[in-house]
Amino acid sequence: AQFIESIRGADSSPIIDRARQHGARQPHSGKLAVITGAGSGIGRETAYLLSEQGAEVILADINLDAAEETARTITSGGGFAHAYRLDVADTDGFNAFAEEVTKKHGVADIVINNAGIGLAGHVLDATDEQIRRLVDINLMGVMTGSRAFGRKMVERGLGGQIVNLASAAAFTPQQGLGGYSATKAGVLMFSESLRAELAEHRIGVSAICPGIVDTNIVAATEFAGASADGQKQLQDKMSGMYHKRNFTPDRVAAAIVGAIDSNAPVVPVTVEAKVGYRVYRFAPGL
Ligand code: NAD
Repeated sequence: AQFIESIRGADSSPIIDRARQHGARQPHSGKLAVITGAGSGIGRETAYLLSEQGAEVILADINLDAAEETARTITSGGGFAHAYRLDVADTDGFNAFAEEVTKKHGVADIVINNAGIGLAGHVLDATDEQIRRLVDINLMGVMTGSRAFGRKMVERGLGGQIVNLASAAAFTPQQGLGGYSATKAGVLMFSESLRAELAEHRIGVSAICPGIVDTNIVAATEFAGASADGQKQLQDKMSGMYHKRNFTPDRVAAAIVGAIDSNAPVVPVTVEAKVGYRVYRFAPGL
């Protein structure tokens, strides 16, 4: 009974069964965590950390090979991981994924909506298709994931935690990142609103706002309008900027898990910025 209480203070059988099955007594033992974009960078490091802390992890990525690689690392270390191919921009597919995960593995206790892409260059030069894809992945994907899994958490009635990846670009104007900033500001406000709506169900919703983190996102970033030479110049400039700051994805993963543990509403990771009445600061210890 002591063990059961230490998990979350509720006697839910799926959680308890999973904890028993895994046999470990870690902070997230017995929890099921879904992580999108888990094949790279911040998502991958978050999967490692949650798994080290006892969670069973569902790794979803548009790049199945990459998600499988994350899963192999976890399972070879004795953890529990399952890789899925998912395009978060495919709303029907995402809803079906939430159904399948719930049926196969149970209701997720933790959902990290992390999958995202960049789009650099002048926003007026971007094609409509580029802007639509950006919004569909970065904003719509986060809303679909939060809604689909949020409903399952509400139905189960045992609470949960949803963490969404926004960005410092959500509240600091970024030249050449207008479309990206808009999607991230949307993620931030969506998360804060959903947090208020789900509080009565003991479901916490947090938005993480990292500054520059050294991941594959620069290499994967699309460019609006620029010529091949122009793209190369922009990419070099961004890479230089990224390497100078060199904020590593494992530290963002620590902030994500910290947000889950403390039920924090907004977790800025690298910046201090004043927005209206709200002051975002460095998270201490990061
Ligand atoms: P990354 O490129 O290393 O990883 C992103 C992952 O998402 C990749 O594995 C990719 O395959 C996957 N992905 C892309 N489109 C997808 C889709 N449609 N469906 C499912 N998966 C998809 O980037 P990262 O830096 O780890 O980014 C993770 C999140 O953090 C993103 O939301 C990003 O906007 C945010 N972020 C990153 C930084 C940074 O500087 N790296 C800063 C602030 C916020």
